[in-house]
Amino acid sequence: MSHPPKSLWWDSLSQPLKIRESVDSNLELDVAIIGAGYTGLWSAYYLKQNEPNLKIGLIEANVAGFGASGRNGGWCSALFPVGLEKLAEQSDRQTAIRMQKTMFETVDEVGRIIEKEGIDAEWQKGGSYSIARDEIQLKRAKEETKHFKEWGFNDFDFTFFNQIEAINKINASNILGTTFTPHCASINPAKLVRQLAEVVEKNGIKIFENSQVTNFSKNRVFVNNQEIKAKFIINATEAYRSNFKQYKRTSIPVYSLMIATEPLSIETWDEIGLKNRETFADYRNLIIYGQRTKDNRFAFGGRGAPYHFGSKINPIFDQHQKTHRDLLETLIDIFPVIKGVKVTHTWGGPLAIARDWAPHVTFDKNSNILSAGCYVGDGVATANLAGRTISDLILNKESNLTSLPWVQHESKKWEIEPFRWIGINSTLQLAKFADVMEKKYKKETFVTKLLSKLRGH
Ligand SMILES: Cc1cc2nc3c(=O)[nH]c(=O)nc-3n(C[C@H](O)[C@H](O)[C@H](O)COP(=O)(O)OP(=O)(O)OC[C@H]3O[C@@H](n4cnc5c(N)ncnc54)[C@H](O)[C@@H]3O)c2cc1C
Repeated sequence: MSHPPKSLWWDSLSQPLKIRESVDSNLELDVAIIGAGYTGLWSAYYLKQNEPNLKIGLIEANVAGFGASGRNGGWCSALFPVGLEKLAEQSDRQTAIRMQKTMFETVDEVGRIIEKEGIDAEWQKGGSYSIARDEIQLKRAKEETKHFKEWGFNDFDFTFFNQIEAINKINASNILGTTFTPHCASINPAKLVRQLAEVVEKNGIKIFENSQVTNFSKNRVFVNNQEIKAKFIINATEAYRSNFKQYKRTSIPVYSLMIATEPLSIETWDEIGLKNRETFADYRNLIIYGQRTKDNRFAFGGRGAPYHFGSKINPIFDQHQKTHRDLLETLIDIFPVIKGVKVTHTWGGPLAIARDWAPHVTFDKNSNILSAGCYVGDGVATANLAGRTISDLILNKESNLTSLPWVQHESKKWEIEPFRWIGINSTLQLAKFADVMEKKYKKETFVTKLLSKLRGH
């Protein structure tokens, strides 16, 4: 068992960590859920709400919230990593639009349960800005706005603010404009996952910790030399799924890294803006994301850390000096007013990406094994949708959720090594290179086009 990850979020928890009991005898359950992150916990929560008699157990290798759920950027957003065109190709135009609208509703559903269950997750639904700081980014911002309009969404879902309007909202250096969507809340992810675990427990669901599942197959889960018999099994291990032989090439664990600054003065925030704790990103190739925390820090993250050969996951990869340094430089470049700020926390963790960048919920009716994940870093709200969908699938309820295009979606497998390692790390380097080239030559290069081809969208 690894220790809980070090992060701003885990340090903010008020209660000392008490580890729950492990699996130490053979068990019989209706539903065995492997992994106690958002996917596992939301699945348990809705299943129990809809069918109180079910005997449900969550089996967690570490502690509830140990994975990405306890250490992410805290964007509870309606982002879905598959574009509307792609979704329409897999279904039809109306269904693609319904998927996006369901994501909007999902953000509110998370907020609704947080309120109903009295969870203090530092929730604030202030929306999200994607800023443009050069002409190329501005073009992308305008194109994205036009794209949403073409798909029938209006200014209440996605809008564009020009330079003067943008500066008043988020005073980033060189800002030329920004897009805005109200469908995003800032949260403290560890508070959400840890308190959701308590809610689930109070509802009569058993959580086992320090219990690493070594293998599972139809109706059987193996852990700590014990066997759990279950009618249904849910694989809710996301980035860690590639540790199971049968899932090895269904996703890759990609590290996203974060930093947190010391709390900033109110005067500094008056200069920066983000009055409603809106989350923020920009239109560069290598993803960055940030939020103003409830205690007035920046929590800021991004990609760029290397992929590790053989899809290896190890707590030492949560630290990568160069990436953490680059993150601080980027943050200061965006908000020069914070120059000299202290970084109090650096951390990171793995998230799962499928070969076609598509998340899924699947239900194999032969084995009664379900799986959800591959959220590509957009899993905070999406895992809630997965939980509700899984509940409907297990309870055999055909619903608006079970007919969404990501249900039963199967992605192609990732390449074998060393091609996987070469391909992923080259793509990461290309993304960095594309950003440097764009900054230097002020125009979109072939590298950007190549990148979007490689990602399949
Ligand atoms: C740094 C970072 C920033 C991110 N930022 C955002 C963001 O701002 N917004 C957003 O929407 N998404 C974000 N994401 C992604 C998001 O956090 C995840 O998609 C989401 O939390 C996945 O939830 P999960 O429950 O499926 O997986 P996890 O939270 O990873 O949970 C899986 C659990 O399974 C357990 N497990 C693994 N193997 C076993 C085993 N063999 N036996 C038993 N248990 C096992 C793990 O210990 C873990 O607790 C971010 C991710 C990272 C890493």
